[in-house]
Amino acid sequence: MRKVTRLGVMGGTFDPLHHGHLVTAEEALWQFHLDEVVFVPTGQPWMKADREVSPAEHRYLMTVIATASNPHFSVSRIEVDREGPTYAVDTLRELRQQRAGDVELFFITGADAMLEILQWKDPEEVLEQAHFIAATRPGYDIARFEKEAPTSHPRVSVMDIPALAISSSDIRRRVRDGEPIRYLVPEGVNTYIRKFHLYRGGG
Ligand code: NAP
Repeated sequence: MRKVTRLGVMGGTFDPLHHGHLVTAEEALWQFHLDEVVFVPTGQPWMKADREVSPAEHRYLMTVIATASNPHFSVSRIEVDREGPTYAVDTLRELRQQRAGDVELFFITGADAMLEILQWKDPEEVLEQAHFIAATRPGYDIARFEKEAPTSHPRVSVMDIPALAISSSDIRRRVRDGEPIRYLVPEGVNTYIRKFHLYRGGG
């Protein structure tokens, strides 16, 4: 019998990657019986004109450092290396092509990002290419998500992740204000942020 690989695709800006993201990926691995989760840091996030995003190479390297010890996790440069705006539909197509043989894709991301899925490029194809797992923070207005997002679609699931009380924007603010981030991010990510003086300025 042919083996179908169940591949989690963890999409995010990861600016920086924190323990909430790692718990999300591990929980998806377990809940959806995935074989592997590949983290895909975004290239140029086209919907983020309102704030400066750290260079993709920094975000990619922090993701590699944070996931290195987990044999089920890997990191893809697919979006970092692709020129132009980042579209999930291109990533899903490319990952499917890269993996010869049968693969079932599970796109894991934050519920807020998922709310906008109908504005993404080729939303119908996106929803066909993968099962979608929307991760929510504690206190998240799930009623809004159920009203606005295509949760009635059989390929969208919601996963509540208490560890997502940690957020990248709060980590950036804490660094800027001189507050500690130890234990919010993996130690290697903390060291990387200090070494390259990330998040010191605005953003
Ligand atoms: P975002 O707006 O930066 O994040 C929205 C919320 O989701 C934030 O609270 C964020 O928390 C959380 N989040 C983001 N990624 C997560 C993850 N993997 N697991 C758990 N929580 C997560 O979203 P984004 O990073 O720009 O986009 C998320 C994904 O959607 C990316 O893969 C992106 O390429 C895709 N996307 C595609 C299109 C398109 O194809 N046109 C458009 C928009 C987004 P933190 O800040 O703490 O991470």
